[in-house]
Amino acid sequence: MELYYAKRKNSLLYYLVIFLFVFLAGGYSLFANNIIRPPSDEIATVDEEEIKVPEETKIEKKVFGQSQQGKNIEGYEIGSGKDSLLIFAAIHGNEMGTADLLNRLVLEISLDPDIVSQSKKLIIIPVANPDGYEDRTDKLNASGVNLNLNFATSLWEQYGPEGNYAGPAPFSESESRVIRDLVEQYKPKAMISFHAHGNLISPEAGEPSVALAKWYSARTGYEFYGGWDYSGTATKWFKEMTGNPAITVEISKDYQSDWEINKGALLELISSDNLPISS
Ligand SMILES: [Zn+2]
Repeated sequence: MELYYAKRKNSLLYYLVIFLFVFLAGGYSLFANNIIRPPSDEIATVDEEEIKVPEETKIEKKVFGQSQQGKNIEGYEIGSGKDSLLIFAAIHGNEMGTADLLNRLVLEISLDPDIVSQSKKLIIIPVANPDGYEDRTDKLNASGVNLNLNFATSLWEQYGPEGNYAGPAPFSESESRVIRDLVEQYKPKAMISFHAHGNLISPEAGEPSVALAKWYSARTGYEFYGGWDYSGTATKWFKEMTGNPAITVEISKDYQSDWEINKGALLELISSDNLPISS
């Protein structure tokens, strides 16, 4: 019996193969005769204008203002959520690694814009002091002012003269006015100011800033440092004006980004719906 079924199975297979061969060969030749390839200029292509980036993940490169010497202060507005975050770097022009860090962040976002929370709007300025970044080797702007002492905090001082000159008056410099105007326009829920190199994180006074600094410290390994309280800084002015958290992040190198150290914290920060308030 087994042999009978085996033979019968074989013959059925044989007829099936013959049938398929005839069917496919005939079908192919019939079909092949009808294939007419159009000239290449008539081949339809996708109209690129139809490819739209979803509104909720928009990335806009913007000119936010000009430096003392008229250079553009460029940056990015990303997302359209209700909670703005203001993140800037290289307000001290020779701290170039910080600019690279924020450019890498924007690049990462451009590869996957949906990573930005729908509740967030990011204002990112990689180079807040373009005159210093391009033309100087110290941390000052073209007028010789330390911009991070030029904000109108309480107990403002001129400091100086070398390296720490805060300017003739609060907001005497166009670069610090650009940041002031962005705060008035976007009303950020937090400010993060990147500097180099200290390998630490310094919060402004008050629980929201301390909580954000500890959160960032826990994810990067940068030391939490609560000992700074200078008048004239962008973060102190922001905290006094808004009450919202403001931290200074000192990366570990002057000319390199520390991207791998900051990547996890930054991506978590921009993708979460709420600001971190505890570590
Ligand atoms: Zn600095």
